Amino acid sequence: MTLPTGVERHDFDGETGLATRGPPVYGEATDGEWRRWDPHRSKLGAMLELGMDTGLVGGETALYLGAAAGTTVSHVADFAGPTYAVEFAPRPVRDLLSAAEERDRLFPLLKDARRPETYAHVVEPVDVVVQDVATRGQARVAALNRQFLGEDGRLLAAIKARSEDVTAAPEDVFEGVLDELREDYAVLSTEPLAPYHEDHLGVVARPR
Ligand code: SAM
Repeated sequence: MTLPTGVERHDFDGETGLATRGPPVYGEATDGEWRRWDPHRSKLGAMLELGMDTGLVGGETALYLGAAAGTTVSHVADFAGPTYAVEFAPRPVRDLLSAAEERDRLFPLLKDARRPETYAHVVEPVDVVVQDVATRGQARVAALNRQFLGEDGRLLAAIKARSEDVTAAPEDVFEGVLDELREDYAVLSTEPLAPYHEDHLGVVARPR
């Protein structure tokens, strides 16, 4: 599996791990200008670490849904082009703003990913939508944001089973979410994100 340009493997205290070049954000280890992209802290990092074919090459425009304090989206902005980061909780957005201050390609948006009409005037068409919203209705969020992707675009989503139903078996939840997702996307590959994230499914899809 080839990593996107701008993502490399570096040695951190005797351990090799993914890294991007940029100012540190969450206390991660550094190696000169490079900082460790911890797959335990990042679902997209886990997808890359597990060898999923994300289609990322580096330099793409990105819309990131569920940016929280900026852990993962800061890595994305390190290797991607303009990166729009949607998060609806004001508290983590404060840290997201700090990460963005040091990155001229990262644009935080305090918005609800279920209401794309509130940011459609700001976000240009993108090459990739990265989704990690950990909320009920994850397939619906992906469907609502399908409008930002062109034909060759990619959806990279981490589906959290417990956000949909805490009592159901994760496999059943994933099947339900994928069925709904297939109304708007062709699913290209899926991979459980264990051992980095239990009961999460990584999904690579393209718009129908
Ligand atoms: N992606 C982050 C990372 O790796 O650094 C972690 C994201 S955390 C698991 C999920 C985030 O999604 C939370 O910060 C939550 O507030 C946000 N979220 C959930 N529903 C949302 C929605 N409808 N719109 C925007 N953000 C949402």
